[in-house]
Amino acid sequence: MNLENLQKNVPLAPFTTYKIGGPADLYFPAKSPEAITAALLYARDHQLPVFILGTGANILVGDRGFRGLIIHNQAQAVALNGHQLTADSGAVIGDLIELTASQGLSGLEHFAGIPSSVGGALWQNLHFLAPNRQETVFIGDLVESAVILDEELTTHTVDRAFFRFGYDYSLLHDRPLTVLQATFNLIPADSTLIRRQIEANLDWRRRKHPPLETEPSAGSVFKKIAGVGAGRLIDQAGLRGRRLGGAKVSEKHTNFIVNASHATAADVRGLIDLVQTEVEAKTGYRLEPEIQFIGEF
Ligand SMILES: Cc1cc2nc3c(=O)[nH]c(=O)nc-3n(C[C@H](O)[C@H](O)[C@H](O)COP(=O)(O)OP(=O)(O)OC[C@H]3O[C@@H](n4cnc5c(N)ncnc54)[C@H](O)[C@@H]3O)c2cc1C
Repeated sequence: MNLENLQKNVPLAPFTTYKIGGPADLYFPAKSPEAITAALLYARDHQLPVFILGTGANILVGDRGFRGLIIHNQAQAVALNGHQLTADSGAVIGDLIELTASQGLSGLEHFAGIPSSVGGALWQNLHFLAPNRQETVFIGDLVESAVILDEELTTHTVDRAFFRFGYDYSLLHDRPLTVLQATFNLIPADSTLIRRQIEANLDWRRRKHPPLETEPSAGSVFKKIAGVGAGRLIDQAGLRGRRLGGAKVSEKHTNFIVNASHATAADVRGLIDLVQTEVEAKTGYRLEPEIQFIGEF
């Protein structure tokens, strides 16, 4: 099988929120679920390592790039059916928030300002603080069903329980499954109130997080430690603002390591190692990265 528009030696940095990373040997922009399936079949036929890329917001790509096929998911068709939204897995959550807010459908506005595709959101069980800022809202709770490809590249329609959603977890971490499409249950609500919540969330982010435009990042680097907080431990270890090459522990949010000035993946990874070592030495806690390391470093 041949793939139209298969490209060679394509730099991945522009497709990640870190703006870091070397080239993919093979790169395929997939515009539909059928194109994703065709690319996975191609990878299987040619015995290529394969990676499905969404908006690249939870990964660090190595400076030497990826030996295999990157499938860049740009399948973005959406359909509304009553209070249910069905979206291809490459649809961008921010676009879905705009659409559903304009239709008076509530649910997705809790994730305003978070860079994510639908596929990445299910992979990670995208989450944010509820409006009361005490509880957490998870995207998994909105999932009605999804169309997935299993290891044999057979299509199945599965329900929410299939994903075994948890904190920063879904079954997608443990099995090489591909989400092609997802259907979300939303609740009819006043558009004005939904927009107010979007603004409140964007405002919260502006105050707490370094801006992606000037300080690229992949969000929180380390997993949450219940009751303690990774950011607080990093602060306690005196690492706020610590630099390594072009990478820096954010002054604004210490669980973010930002690309402050032309950072390489080696800079970011080196700073992650340094933070782990110093936090463990000073506090006794071992921080574990939440972001994924992709390709060769
Ligand atoms: C500034 C900033 C703030 C953030 N804030 C938050 C936050 O508040 N809450 C939160 O939960 N996260 C947050 N994140 C992390 C990030 O936004 C989420 O992890 C997001 O879901 C990543 O989606 P993505 O499309 O970019 O996935 P990618 O980074 O492209 O991929 C992540 C993983 O998902 C897999 N994947 C992607 N698509 C599919 C698919 N179709 N089928 C199967 N697997 C797939 C990939 O293969 C990869 O393993 C933040 C990130 C940034 C940069």
